[in-house]
Amino acid sequence: MIYHGNPVSKGIAAGPVFLYQPFTAAVSGDLLEESAVPEALNKYEAARKNAEAELKALHARLQSADPEKAKIFTAHIDILFDEAMDGDIREQIENNRYPPDRAIAEVFEKYARILRKAPDPLIKERASDIRDVKTRLIRIWNGVPEKNLSSLPAPAVIVVHDLLPSDTATLDRKNVLAIVTEIGGSTSHSAIIARSYGIPAILGVDKATEHFSQGETVIADALTGQVISEPTKEQLRGCAEKRRRFFAQQDQINTFINKEAVSPDGVRVDIELNLASVSEQALEGEKYTDGVGLFRTEFLYLGRDSLPTEEEQFEIYRAVLTKFGGRPVTLRTLDIGGDKKLGCLNLPHEENPFLGNRALRLCFDRPDIFRTQLRAAFRASVYGNLWLMFPMVASIDDIFRAKQAVFEVKKELTDENIAFSPDVKLGIMIEIPSIALLADFAAKEVDFASIGTNDLCQYTMAVDRLNPAVNEYYQSYNPALFRLIHLAAKSFLENGKPVCVCGELGGDRLGAAVLMGLGVRKLSMNISSVAQIRKLVNELPMKKAEQIAANVLALSSAKEAEQYLNSALKEILS
Ligand code: PEP
Ligand code: MG
Repeated sequence: MIYHGNPVSKGIAAGPVFLYQPFTAAVSGDLLEESAVPEALNKYEAARKNAEAELKALHARLQSADPEKAKIFTAHIDILFDEAMDGDIREQIENNRYPPDRAIAEVFEKYARILRKAPDPLIKERASDIRDVKTRLIRIWNGVPEKNLSSLPAPAVIVVHDLLPSDTATLDRKNVLAIVTEIGGSTSHSAIIARSYGIPAILGVDKATEHFSQGETVIADALTGQVISEPTKEQLRGCAEKRRRFFAQQDQINTFINKEAVSPDGVRVDIELNLASVSEQALEGEKYTDGVGLFRTEFLYLGRDSLPTEEEQFEIYRAVLTKFGGRPVTLRTLDIGGDKKLGCLNLPHEENPFLGNRALRLCFDRPDIFRTQLRAAFRASVYGNLWLMFPMVASIDDIFRAKQAVFEVKKELTDENIAFSPDVKLGIMIEIPSIALLADFAAKEVDFASIGTNDLCQYTMAVDRLNPAVNEYYQSYNPALFRLIHLAAKSFLENGKPVCVCGELGGDRLGAAVLMGLGVRKLSMNISSVAQIRKLVNELPMKKAEQIAANVLALSSAKEAEQYLNSALKEILS
């Protein structure tokens, strides 16, 4: 049987399915009979032993591959055997006749709450570890086997309803052969992360978690978007051959990874990096790029119980700025809301989150959060070449408000005698059509623009970028989008202000060809696209790119544009 989805990160793999359904803890309410207490205590002890065994196995599995991650699980064993908590749980079972799961839930929560109030952020963080151990114990108590993406027992194809950003952050990359989800479009964060890790991914496979069973072998073909269940021997052989060819082609493209991006007629394009974490692996991209065109700072806030402190942020920003030396590091202020929720902020439910209190709007709403981030960024600015930009700018007023916040933070730092660089560049993301249309005014207010084509496409086409049901309407090659980009880029370039494209279109071969032709000289992308785009720039004369762009602007549909771009590039590129 063949199922179809949206191939968002290229590649192909065959392997057993790992069905992932995160466990959510529910606890029993009824009190125990007096006579049931001794058995409950024994069962609690048994659950603890099981949890210890699981944690030891996780630790052993990670010890050589990722010792830092392994340490987390040693800390969890310590929590499991914490004498104070153990004493309280036993007391609740013996004296109050609480069933063990309820006793565990209440006691662990009590301690987590106490830690959450600690002034030291490191101690505060332990609250999430306590909650993690609590969920593990309650899951074991319920007889539910362990499911976790941070440490898979063997290589597998992950099949999941949707991957949360926090799931992807802890993904056991070496064992994930491919990702198949039921929802998510090509610019969802799952897709972006899969691409940056180079993991084949097919999103939007309807009812995937019902079609596939745990452990069955599938082929995930993220070149065509097919997921094949019960493949024949012949199909498996075909898959192996296709995989071999794919890697050979990748090797050929990879020879360009270090080549300066200069077109055959001598025009240079900066190839910058999109960063969504500061792991060693993510920062490897520094070797192959001319700067950071998009530093998605959300990862600092995700999957934790408390907001990151100024100090914590400062250390991270400083590390990245130092690593890139004099090259620009474009830090995007917090972009939360939309598909990204924060555990540490109790954000109200919104009917239309992508049109709601997102990104800059949320920062205006929570000046404390905004100020902390701006202070950390400006303090770090003395360590490198900081460019600071604001996401989700919709109006000139938004620019004034953001600049006012920057002004206040700079004044504060000056009053406190804290140094910051006078050369920090301020820019906006162009991802809402209104600001693209007013770019001539915006260009007078800021130093640069960065076009976020993922959202610009979403808002131009009026289509939720995560909803597979409307995926066909999310048309990145629609000439309407290119016309808006043209308008915005032209306004900034005429004012002598740099324009970057940091949405997925910048790392896409067809899209990048048009962007070059529209005058964009900075493209920012995931590391997995760098070699391909360096190759494109080296092979595509800028004069030709300009003709291509002009032709695309004169077309009327995404389909025509895609067909035209494919054939035009086929003629030119090797
Ligand atoms: C964009 O919208 O193009 C962008 C780069 O931001 P994000 O994908 O993080 O929304
Ligand atoms: Mg965006």
